[in-house]
Amino acid sequence: MHLARFPRHHFAHLPTPLEPMKRLSEHLGGPNIWIKRDDCTGLAGGGNKTRKLEFLMADAVERGADTVITQGATQSNHARQTAAIATKLGLGCHILLEDRTGMEDADYNYNGNVMLDQLFGAPLTKFPAGTDMNAAMEQMAEELGESGKNPYIIPGGGSNEIGALGYVNCALELLTQANDRSLRIDEVIHATGSAGTQAGLVTGLAASNSRIPVLGIGVRAPQDAQESNVFKLCERTADFMGIPGSVKREDVRANCNYVGKGYGFPAAGTIEAIELFANLEGILLDPVYSGKGAAGMIDLIRQGHYSKHQNIVFLHTGGAQALFGYRTAFDFPSYD
Ligand SMILES: *Cc1c(COP(=O)(O)O)cnc(C)c1O
Repeated sequence: MHLARFPRHHFAHLPTPLEPMKRLSEHLGGPNIWIKRDDCTGLAGGGNKTRKLEFLMADAVERGADTVITQGATQSNHARQTAAIATKLGLGCHILLEDRTGMEDADYNYNGNVMLDQLFGAPLTKFPAGTDMNAAMEQMAEELGESGKNPYIIPGGGSNEIGALGYVNCALELLTQANDRSLRIDEVIHATGSAGTQAGLVTGLAASNSRIPVLGIGVRAPQDAQESNVFKLCERTADFMGIPGSVKREDVRANCNYVGKGYGFPAAGTIEAIELFANLEGILLDPVYSGKGAAGMIDLIRQGHYSKHQNIVFLHTGGAQALFGYRTAFDFPSYD
């Protein structure tokens, strides 16, 4: 496996730290919980999309693109990171936002990631929930093409076989860090959505024969659909890398019991997880992804899923910028 064969622009701050969370581990009575800080990838607040964009943006530049188009939900972290790196590379960036939640709160619609998209100068277009966003991106690409631009479409979440290479690389990085400190990892847990993060990690960990299991905590789709999306992308990624068949279907595991009311709606457990991480570790999670991932991990620990002496790694995929779009999800006292 030699990732240097693929075009890549280096702008992420790597390696991201791998740190113990002693107080959270004590509070929950074990296992030893470690955190891989992909919220610290360095691009405009960081997050998991930055690793994918290193490969996607290099591909766009190599194809002579002058503009990128991408899509996501209103508080998309992927949109923010794409808009940021587009400015640095001197590319235009059009963002299509799908109003998946229908929330009318002004903070949700204009603060957090949306405010940052606008700060980076990316034109935003809003679409109703259920729009075929891929078709909408194709149509915009056609229009931009007719006006003389050379647009490049980045799929939602940066999740295709090119973007997934960023998480193949993360798997190698994590293995090196664990080997260097003799940390035996029993499981990696993270929030899974558009599938690129999990597909890249699973492919990298399988291709290196690490035998480290990965558990994705779903934020949207039911388990069957989520696992099959991730597995399909594992297969495409492995083919793309020239190592077909390296991932088995049983390597892909998702638990989708923590979605709550739906994508973008924090459940009670999500809020509890955000508050626990904040109050015990000083770490910011988000209400859409990492808060749900952490809620799943915490609940599995409470159910006795792990023994005291095991080591698990929570991959923090970022997203705290969305907190500012969700002020009303928290019940803080007034102070005047
Ligand atoms: C996009 C995102 C995820 C999910 O990653 P996928 O590769 O889309 O599965 C998790 N956490 C955060 C904060 C994200 O922005």
